[in-house]
Amino acid sequence: MADTLERIKCLIIGSGPAGYTAAIYAARADMHPVLYTGMEPGGQLTTTTEVDNFPGYPDGIDGPQMMVDLQKQAERFGTQVRIGMVTSVDLSKEIGGIHKATIDNATEVEAETVIISTGATAKYLGLPSEQKLRGGGVSACAVCDGFFYRGQEVAIVGGGDTAAEEATYLANICSKVTMLVRGDEMRASKAMQHRVTNCENIELRYNSEVDEVLGEQVVEGLRIKNNKTGESDEIAITGLFIAIGHKPNTEIFKDQLEMDSTGYLITEGKSTKTNLPGVFACGDVQDKEYRQAVTAAGTGCMAALDAERYLATIEKEVTA
Ligand code: NDP
Repeated sequence: MADTLERIKCLIIGSGPAGYTAAIYAARADMHPVLYTGMEPGGQLTTTTEVDNFPGYPDGIDGPQMMVDLQKQAERFGTQVRIGMVTSVDLSKEIGGIHKATIDNATEVEAETVIISTGATAKYLGLPSEQKLRGGGVSACAVCDGFFYRGQEVAIVGGGDTAAEEATYLANICSKVTMLVRGDEMRASKAMQHRVTNCENIELRYNSEVDEVLGEQVVEGLRIKNNKTGESDEIAITGLFIAIGHKPNTEIFKDQLEMDSTGYLITEGKSTKTNLPGVFACGDVQDKEYRQAVTAAGTGCMAALDAERYLATIEKEVTA
């Protein structure tokens, strides 16, 4: 049950580049935004080391540092950044309606506009042996956990840009990286593929899937199945990294907001408008195509501008 009630102009859910950029713009437009960070303050970039492709940083920037800077910038203009998880929402269908959000299953907040920037979360294969050994050598973040496997042999699953990037990262730390790609080619960009093939200690195995993760308490090896020949073999490793994509964090919006078949929020045309008035979505939660920090930040800016215009239209209607 909610124990307090607060009415705000702009609620921002999520603290990645999209959420913080929305906060900077909303705060500068006097919308007094309140941003709830979610479970992973700073979002996915806090699990990255160097970000080299965000414009304006000729020497690159540390991912977690970039998020600290974005938070400071949002706070400088008056954003209230609060540690907390939005656990449920009750979104209004009416133009000018008030949206409700419950924080940590306790506090209720009422908002005139809601900007959703809850991002996406790493996917796992779903094998029982993989789930059993999460935290015992199975990880979805090479940059967070690669350090623990210095000088050891590891494997990574996936053939996209994330897998390619993480494989080259691991290759610098580990003695050998076996990269398992389920298809007969990688989905990663050509540039990333070159980086992988140029690493002498990465062994690329196509048409290869994990049949079972071996080990009781910790990862000791993998049974790999070739999906073309049906043959299986085992390799000895101490760490398994899963890099097979992400799932949008949209559970709490189910049955209220329009989503595609994979759960990504649908926005209208080039805007950040969802199907409900006063509710906007930005960043990875509505983008499965580009998923970059800079594109997330761009849509965060758009969401704040869309929210500001929405409020202006409503105020005009009220005073007319
Ligand atoms: P992607 O969805 O692009 O790739 C997922 C990979 O995992 C694919 O190779 C896919 O295989 C494989 N896969 C999916 N499910 C399974 C499974 N159950 N078992 C085995 N393999 C599986 O995700 P990414 O996270 O790599 O990239 C997401 C987006 O972020 C992309 O747009 C990418 O370009 C971008 N990105 C850009 C970077 C950069 O520019 N520096 C760095 C990282 C990401 P299949 O191809 O057969 O479907």
